[in-house]
Amino acid sequence: MNDKLLSDRLKMVASFVPANSSVADIGSDHAYLPCYLMNKQRISYAIAGEVNEGPFQSAINQVNRSGFSDKISVRKGNGLQVIKPGEVDVITIAGMGGQLIRNILLEGIDKLDGVSRLILQPNVAAHLLRQSLSELNWELVDERILEEDKKIYEVLVFDVGNGSNPYRSLSERDQAKAILFGPKLASEKNEAFIKKWKHELEKRVRILRSMENAEVPSEKEASVKTEIDLIKEVIS
Ligand code: SAM
Repeated sequence: MNDKLLSDRLKMVASFVPANSSVADIGSDHAYLPCYLMNKQRISYAIAGEVNEGPFQSAINQVNRSGFSDKISVRKGNGLQVIKPGEVDVITIAGMGGQLIRNILLEGIDKLDGVSRLILQPNVAAHLLRQSLSELNWELVDERILEEDKKIYEVLVFDVGNGSNPYRSLSERDQAKAILFGPKLASEKNEAFIKKWKHELEKRVRILRSMENAEVPSEKEASVKTEIDLIKEVIS
């Protein structure tokens, strides 16, 4: 497979796949990610999971074209239903919202036994993954933020944790900040991070204005105000 087929976003996901792993790429669409990893001889085996017929057929075609049909199993099904417990070491889920990724993981929680790493690329709502996975004892070991084609993406890498909640020692406010912005991203504050949060700040200011005119319950208004304060604090 031509390397140029893979976006920088998916190359970033690929960079966190440990050598010789077996990988399930859920919502694989064209299966570019597993084909790229196999082409680079980074992985021994992969499953490309797809729930929809069109992308499922694209994945089959791409895997056949790449000559990997003996090493990449393309399976049709919802979320983690396509894998058997213990079949893979790594799960990648990219290009969906954080809420959908979280639902896929929670609905297939029994399939996570034996999985040592989750590499997740939510298009929005990354905080839901930081929150839920820490509650499930997955440790956030790395995170990146990048801009490609005028869109900003986050990549989160979780390893099986030792049961200690990394946010526990923080104050309530610092916990909220770490979950919302990502502890590593907030300390690095690269260009993409600042751009994203300036945009998010503008969105929240607009939401707050519309709430003030619409008599929305005061807790909702208070929570948007808190987020506005947190964003101002982090990007200042
Ligand atoms: N992962 C690729 C990427 O990052 O470029 C494709 C992303 S595409 C926007 C999302 C894909 O996820 C679609 O092909 C869709 O059919 C698939 N999908 C959505 N929900 C799914 C689910 N519950 N289980 C499996 N695949 C799903």
